[in-house]
Amino acid sequence: MDNQKPIPVKTQDNSPYWDGADRHELILQKCNSCQEYSHPPGPSCAKCGGTELSWESQGSEISGKVYSYIISYRPFLPGFQDDLPLIIAIVEIDKLPNVRLIGNVLQCSTDDIRIGLPVKMIWKELTEERSLPQWIQV
Ligand SMILES: [Zn+2]
Repeated sequence: MDNQKPIPVKTQDNSPYWDGADRHELILQKCNSCQEYSHPPGPSCAKCGGTELSWESQGSEISGKVYSYIISYRPFLPGFQDDLPLIIAIVEIDKLPNVRLIGNVLQCSTDDIRIGLPVKMIWKELTEERSLPQWIQV
């Protein structure tokens, strides 16, 4: 597979999230102190600053709704020049409305994208080992 796009770098703080994505599974960081999900993952909870964090699988059937979006008509990063216009959305997870994830909405025309649009997560293979969570309209 000839991928020109940047591949997300795994770090100490986010590797469970990306390892899950590579298995086509959504893994979220959760704070043991306040029980809130903390996304994107980091060294401490974004809500209370707690550093006792655990990881929780949400499985592979992830549905949500578009919370907000932009339409990009020019590539900001190499490899995206053939994907324009590109819809970049913040998606609210149906079963976890406090969790919002950023991703591209694929196979959706710029006429159809709207706030509240139901979407589901798919995983796009970047290489044989790495996959990227994305969204498609349902
Ligand atoms: Zn917390």
